Amino acid sequence: MDIKDGFVGTVGNTPLIRLTSFSQETGCEILGKAEFLNPGGSVKDRAALYIIEDAEKKGLLKPGGTVVEGTAGNTGIGLAHICNAKGYKCLIVIPDTQSQEKIDLLRTLGAEVRTVPAVPYRDPNNYVKVSGRLAEELDNAIWANQFDNLANRQAHYETTAPEIWAQTQGKIDAWVSATGTGGTYAGAALFFKEKNPNIKCIVADPMGSGLYSYVKTGEIKIEGNSITEGIGNGRITANMQGVPIDDAIQIDDHEAIRVIYQLLYQDGLFMGGSVGINVGAAIALAKAMGPGHTIVTVLCDGGARYQSRLYNQEWLRSKGLWD
Ligand code: PMP
Repeated sequence: MDIKDGFVGTVGNTPLIRLTSFSQETGCEILGKAEFLNPGGSVKDRAALYIIEDAEKKGLLKPGGTVVEGTAGNTGIGLAHICNAKGYKCLIVIPDTQSQEKIDLLRTLGAEVRTVPAVPYRDPNNYVKVSGRLAEELDNAIWANQFDNLANRQAHYETTAPEIWAQTQGKIDAWVSATGTGGTYAGAALFFKEKNPNIKCIVADPMGSGLYSYVKTGEIKIEGNSITEGIGNGRITANMQGVPIDDAIQIDDHEAIRVIYQLLYQDGLFMGGSVGINVGAAIALAKAMGPGHTIVTVLCDGGARYQSRLYNQEWLRSKGLWD
């Protein structure tokens, strides 16, 4: 019998999908780890589960306790599901720039949601810092602290990357991923480099994020902006510290949108915006490396979470992104 044990038992073990049209165009195997098939709908279910179970093991999270987090949405959605399944309360602080679908879903899942203005990390009213303060003030509460809690990248070191290794039988030339907290990129990059130092580990970065310039020049410089949600960073999080990075590729929103529409209409895959950045970078890398290489990236979440934006012509036109 093959029966999964509730929500928690269903996290992970996602398929690895050949992205047919882009593989044909480039002559490379462009493979996407289908994280949108996690039970909470995104790659962040893995980190949410590891963070909660790590806090349980350390005796920090006790029955009836509250999990507090600042999140662009997907981590909160994963945490809210797991809190329901394990009997905890969930308090989420989210910037008001995130899609209404994600905010509505968090409330439907029973999380208490506080929206706050989107301000940079150095501002004390930044959503991450607000969530940290709330966790301190509440009794019997933990701060998930996904950006700097290494249980996040451990989830990917112990599950995502070994799954990809088994699925490809170790035949990987490059790993490319955008970073929000960096947990997905870092956990997998650490695992792959241990297995085979020749595997190229490449950061995909949207405009308006500082990692591209950091990799290229050693300095964080923020230029431009992006409509993609959940990725890009203006600092090196604890999850990204000491992690191998061979190179970075910057992808703009026009390319990301082109990619997700091709995935939808040629491959039948309905994807979120960060997938456009990831697959856009995988395509650029395939062109640079030449045919015959295997490049693995992440399909972080699905398109339904962004229907009012990325799949709404009016909204795209208002951003100058509908060609
Ligand atoms: N894509 C989406 C849609 C996300 O929500 C996130 C997480 N914020 C990521 C990518 C990046 O994942 P990570 O935090 O592991 O870097």
